[in-house]
Amino acid sequence: MELRRCLLLTALLLPAALPFPVQVRPAPCTGKVILLSFCTESPSPTETDEEDEDIFNKILKVNKDSSQLLQEGDIVPRRGRSAINCRHCNWPQSSDGIVRIPYELDPTYETNHVKGIHDAMAEFEALTCINFVKRKTERDYLSIRSADGCWSNYGKVGGGQTVSVMKGGCMWKGVIQHELEHALGFLHEHSRSDRDKHVKIMWQYISPADRPDFKKFENSNNLDLPYDYSSVMHYGPYTFSNTTGKATIVPIPDGSVHIGQRQGMSNLDVAKINKLYNCSRCSTILDGPSGSLRSANHPRNYSDNTNCVWLIRTRSRKVSLHFQAFHLQNTRGCQGDYVKVYDGSSKTSPVLMDKTCGSKIPNSIISSSNLMLVEFITDGAHTASGFQAAFAAGKSENMGNGKENSPCQISLSIHSGKTWKDCSP
Ligand SMILES: [Zn+2]
Repeated sequence: MELRRCLLLTALLLPAALPFPVQVRPAPCTGKVILLSFCTESPSPTETDEEDEDIFNKILKVNKDSSQLLQEGDIVPRRGRSAINCRHCNWPQSSDGIVRIPYELDPTYETNHVKGIHDAMAEFEALTCINFVKRKTERDYLSIRSADGCWSNYGKVGGGQTVSVMKGGCMWKGVIQHELEHALGFLHEHSRSDRDKHVKIMWQYISPADRPDFKKFENSNNLDLPYDYSSVMHYGPYTFSNTTGKATIVPIPDGSVHIGQRQGMSNLDVAKINKLYNCSRCSTILDGPSGSLRSANHPRNYSDNTNCVWLIRTRSRKVSLHFQAFHLQNTRGCQGDYVKVYDGSSKTSPVLMDKTCGSKIPNSIISSSNLMLVEFITDGAHTASGFQAAFAAGKSENMGNGKENSPCQISLSIHSGKTWKDCSP
C-alpha cells in the first residue's frame, strides 16, 4: 500500500503553505476557523524538487547549452517576417472546423517519449479544434525532434518545421504544450502590449544581454481576452535573473500572484486558441485540488444540442468524482443525452463510465491518474435538469465496482460547495 499522509489544515491560516491553490471562504456569520482534513499521497522523491519549478526555468536550463539561435529563450527567430503581425502563419482549418496539423516524430523517441507527446497533444484535441495528425504527404508539418533543447518557431513557417522536444529535459506536458503553442502562433504572455498593467519588469536584475528577451510587442494580437498569469506561456518570476532571489517579473498590484507553471494549458490558453482559430468549443479545465461541475443552467433545464467537456486535472493525485444530482433524458442505450467519463485527458482514453442517462445517480468514480475527462452530450429532443458533481484529489482504496468503499470518504462539504476528502479512519 502506498504511503498516505493526512494533512490537517487550518484553512484560513495556512493556505499559503499548500503546494497548490486552495479557495477558502470563511463560514458565514460565525467567523469561525474551518478545519479541513484531507489526504494526499506522499510525493515521490523525484517529483518533489520539480514540482516547484516553473516551465520556463526548465526550458531555459535545457536551452543553456543549445547551439540553436533563440529569441526570448526558446523561439527560433524568423527571417524577414514580423515576429508579431504574423497574418499568414495560422494553420489552415478544414471545412468541418477542425484544424489538422500534420506532424512527424523523431524515430529515436522511445515508447514513453511518444506517450508523453501524445498525452500533451490529446489535451488540445479534447479542449480545442486543434488536432495533431500523423503526416502523410502534407507539405507543411511539424517535425518534432529531440534536438538540442526545447524550442520552436512561432506560427506556421512552411515546409517541415522543427519543434525541438529533447529527450530527458523537455519531456513535461506543460513544456511540450508550450512549444506546440508557439508553433500554433502564440508568443509569451509577458510580451503582450498590455503587460505593463499586469506585471512590472525588474530591469535592474536583468543583464543587458538578456533584456531583449523581455521585449514588449506593441502590436500583439491579444484577442480581447484578459492577461493570464497562469498561462503555460508565461515566464516564471525569476526568469533570466542575474541576482539570486531577485525576481525579474513581478505581478502588479499583488506581487504574490503565482506566475509560471508546468501543469499544462490554462482555461485562457484554451480560450485564446479557440478564438484565434475560430473554434466553437465548450470546454473547461478544472485544476484545483477539489471543485464542482454542473450542466449549463442546472438545476434549470440544459439546452438541446450541446457538446461540452470538463478536463479535471489535479496536481499529481488521482481524481475522484461524486455525482450529487443527475437527471437526463432517458433513451435506450443513452443514445440521446448522456454523460460519459474517461480515464485520462482524451476521448480515446479508457472509459470509466460509459454513456449514462436517466435519473439514477451514478456511482462515484476514481481515475487511475491525475486526469479525468467528463463529456456531456445532448441531442435535439427533450431536456432535463442535468447533473452536478464534485471532484476531489486524493487516493481512494478498495474501489470495487466503481463504489467508494475507502475509509477516506468524501464527506465534508463546506459552504462554498467544495467537497473534501475526510481522512478520519
Ligand atoms: Zn517559449
